[in-house]
Amino acid sequence: MNAVWIDEAPAAADTTANSLKIERETHKLEKRLCREVGKAIVDYNMIEEGDKVMVCVSGGKDSYALLDILLKLKARAPIHFDIVAVNLDQKQPGFPEEVLPKYLSDLGVDFHIENQDTYSIVKRVIPEGKTTCGLCSRLRRGILYRVADELGATKVALGHHRDDMLQTFFLNMFFAGKLKSMPPKLVSDDGKHVVIRPLAYVAEKDTVRWAQHREFPIIPCTLCGSQENLQRKQVGEMLREWDKKYPGRVENMFTALQNVVPSHLLDGTQHDFKGLKATGVADDDGDKAFDTPSFDLLSQAPSALRIVQG
Ligand code: SF4
Repeated sequence: MNAVWIDEAPAAADTTANSLKIERETHKLEKRLCREVGKAIVDYNMIEEGDKVMVCVSGGKDSYALLDILLKLKARAPIHFDIVAVNLDQKQPGFPEEVLPKYLSDLGVDFHIENQDTYSIVKRVIPEGKTTCGLCSRLRRGILYRVADELGATKVALGHHRDDMLQTFFLNMFFAGKLKSMPPKLVSDDGKHVVIRPLAYVAEKDTVRWAQHREFPIIPCTLCGSQENLQRKQVGEMLREWDKKYPGRVENMFTALQNVVPSHLLDGTQHDFKGLKATGVADDDGDKAFDTPSFDLLSQAPSALRIVQG
């Protein structure tokens, strides 16, 4: 009998301590998500007074997280804006069409489900075995822009996060020869809409944890039967590996995207190399000729990786 009491008491204490720890961590995660999304919105002036933000919800963890955090921020924002959640049901076989309407009704958010059978079009047009994503996403984009017009949305919000942006940056460098990422805010290719990515500062691992905590009813993204983009997957794995092996590297790379120095790259359209003349004024950012650049890793704060030449 004693043994039972003695055995049980620490276990119960452990459980309480554990659940308190989880609660604390979750609270910290929520605060971090709200802070990062709020900061991105302010830094890039993503949402303004009177905006109607169309949040594209696919049923994946990131778009659920985006909607969830935007609703929290809306409740305490110093400005008024409206949110309308939109899902495009592309009629992929097995798409559980009842999941999102139920989730969004329970949430009490204004929403619209757009039913368009792009799946059949893609299957009809693209030969068997060829990748369908190009046409599929073009069709989806056109439909979502039209829906944004019909709903009177002034902003279109997408659930891409920091790691999507870094992946895109590397993919553009590796395969397109461009220093180009996925922007936090840009006018759409039809010139008519402002597209925003409020999760720009959010790490994917945080949307994973938030989705688990909130138990979002995730809809798998493999319903169309298309192959996952292998190159994006590989770059994603490379970044996750670096994150494990070299803590801080991913944060520094992301910071670098916000600290571009055109005079130290080679693009003549971004910096006037041809017209360059000596100014006679000393500048610490000027060329230090034969000095070998070294990197002051000790000062490696998320906001800065200083190049020290010396
Ligand atoms: S994975 Fe499927 S649904 Fe997604 S873009 Fe490609 S074809 Fe379309």
